[in-house]
Amino acid sequence: MITIAIDGPSGSGKSTISKIIAKKMGFINVDTGALYRTIAYFFLENKINYKEKSEVLKNLNNISVSLKNENFSQTIFLNGVDVTQKIRTNEISMLSSEISVIPEVRQFLLKLQRDIAEKNNIVIDGRDIGTVVIPNADVKIFLTADPKVRAKRRYNQLISKGQSTTFDEILELINKRDYNDIHRKISPLKKANDAILVDNSNLNQQDTVYKLIEIIKKKGIKIDTK
Ligand code: C5P
Repeated sequence: MITIAIDGPSGSGKSTISKIIAKKMGFINVDTGALYRTIAYFFLENKINYKEKSEVLKNLNNISVSLKNENFSQTIFLNGVDVTQKIRTNEISMLSSEISVIPEVRQFLLKLQRDIAEKNNIVIDGRDIGTVVIPNADVKIFLTADPKVRAKRRYNQLISKGQSTTFDEILELINKRDYNDIHRKISPLKKANDAILVDNSNLNQQDTVYKLIEIIKKKGIKIDTK
């Protein structure tokens, strides 16, 4: 199976770009941030004291998280219920970053991610795919951009979905999440040694897709770029 791993910080456009590339390649897209968001959503809804290791373990043993890919779009289920839209709030963004430091949570999701990669050709995006989850991925890309550019993108995205927020609030959240993700002990956000760095601060979506496709092609992987 072929794995294209795209890691990078929040708002770098990984998820959108990964989706487009997966579609072009006929691959499945796995947005791993959604998995962490789903666990955060579960902890929040059920008022789980996630600082207690035993509570975390007990609850992880009793939930099921699964992904369905149809028409190149990912739907995420928590205990059989579609939570795809519910996990896209500022509150869940921040909480997912907090709970992603918990070793048991990472272990739980690691297995799920590897199982998917074993059975499918995938474009998978996250923070630790190239370093930890699938270190032998066929292509590794680290996609990043200036924090202000990323905040502006995330702001536009949320506003277009009708959520009320401000640019400053989003910038603060992005900076906090970057800090958490980079400084956590387990699987921190970092570029794998053999990943190719792409800074898209000055690239639009189409140019970023084009650049990544060139990188993938150079690795000898065929893409129909119609
Ligand atoms: O990518 P997204 O913003 O949806 O991710 C939400 C949070 O999940 C991130 O801030 C990060 O803390 C965590 N995450 C992670 N490892 C991944 C993907 C996401 O720790 N592979």
